[in-house]
Amino acid sequence: MKLLLVNTNQTRMPDPVPPIGLSYLASAVRDADHVCTVFDLTFRPAYEEDLKAHLRDTRPELIGLSLRNVDNTAYPKSVSFTEGFQEVVRICRQVTPQTPIVLGGPAFSLFPEQLLEKLGADYGVPGEGEIALLDLLQALQDGHPPTEKIIHPKGGGQVNLNTLTPAWDLFETNRYFRDGGSLNLQTKRGCRYKCSYCSYPLLEGSAVRQRDPVKVVDEMEFCLDKYGIDYFFFVDNVFNYPREHSIAICREILKRHLDIHWTAYTSPGVVDAEMFAIYKDAGCDALDFGSDSMSQVGLSSMSKWFTVTKIKDATRWCRENEIQISHSLIFGPPGETMASVEETIANVHECAPDVVIAMIGVRIYPHTPLARRLVKKGWIKEEDIGLEPVFYIENALREHLFERLQEEARKHHNWILPGFSKKMNHPMLFERLRAKGNKGPMWKMIA
Ligand code: SF4
Repeated sequence: MKLLLVNTNQTRMPDPVPPIGLSYLASAVRDADHVCTVFDLTFRPAYEEDLKAHLRDTRPELIGLSLRNVDNTAYPKSVSFTEGFQEVVRICRQVTPQTPIVLGGPAFSLFPEQLLEKLGADYGVPGEGEIALLDLLQALQDGHPPTEKIIHPKGGGQVNLNTLTPAWDLFETNRYFRDGGSLNLQTKRGCRYKCSYCSYPLLEGSAVRQRDPVKVVDEMEFCLDKYGIDYFFFVDNVFNYPREHSIAICREILKRHLDIHWTAYTSPGVVDAEMFAIYKDAGCDALDFGSDSMSQVGLSSMSKWFTVTKIKDATRWCRENEIQISHSLIFGPPGETMASVEETIANVHECAPDVVIAMIGVRIYPHTPLARRLVKKGWIKEEDIGLEPVFYIENALREHLFERLQEEARKHHNWILPGFSKKMNHPMLFERLRAKGNKGPMWKMIA
């Protein structure tokens, strides 16, 4: 079968996102002896004619659209991406009206029925696609198209993560690295934690499945040798859990004497001084902590399992090891007060991270503990948690919170407010910074 995978993501701020999930998927498709091509919208603001030409040239028998996010998850300046998805479907239908379209990716997995209906697609694969998409290709090849639109893997199986290899040859990998400063890879899937608002356990499962550290570092070494990529981004939800798995990856990097650097998403819940020292030795120079709040009220509200003291320890240990640190925070969850907001701000100043990324309001995703709690309380109806973004902001804060956080952002250049800020929206400036060889997450350059 001839499959065309379309990466519909066009967001390039602050950095273009190397589509690691699609890259692993394309590789699995080729390994199963199907023909796979990729059309990537990331570097194509105007893509219609190119996509039409690609469709005419390749005549795919199945088109897979990867949908990463339904919106930019920022409040108050929310931007919906669904019209963009509709446009891609329109073009595909115009050129290849008989070719079935299958949807996948995190956005689809969260809103399967809504997106199938909105886009008029034929099929959808929620969750990881390495098995279900191959099942669909096989069924189409056998002349037995599925009667159900939502395709789950036969027997509910999950892919063996040690079989993953990226198909970066199908993407503009060198450009992703040049413009984005790093290349993504994944060392595990799943998250065992239950933060109230978070959809990741729904997307990847609550059991953590790990890749063999040797395979992870094989992938890094391959990218270093083939593309000269020497900066990596571990896109796991929580790189430092399980701690020993992350340490084993570091030891493998050290064993091979790889001259590389890396960054990751981490949690302050699983930290100690020795861990950061090993990370540093293995090339880590920046970590983004999903701290969410620096008040106990905020942490408890979002079901975080660590304390403010732990966040301060993590920040101090990173600084001692010359690892740059950013804290991502969410202001306004249920129960937050101006006193807890001030407590968070004071604690941020006390521990002085390099950068603070402050989100206002909690994006409500379906089937999360927060969504269930708010539906039960009558704050929102279940059917209203859909493609149009809804944010929870504690009522008592609405009057002062925006102004208070903007005041911090005006006074401190290292405070980024994605819902307001222009600090992370300067494409020309960022391109110049990257052209000078700056690598790693863009926030490092604001610090
Ligand atoms: S916020 Fe992070 S740690 Fe919490 S459930 Fe989501 S992925 Fe897991």
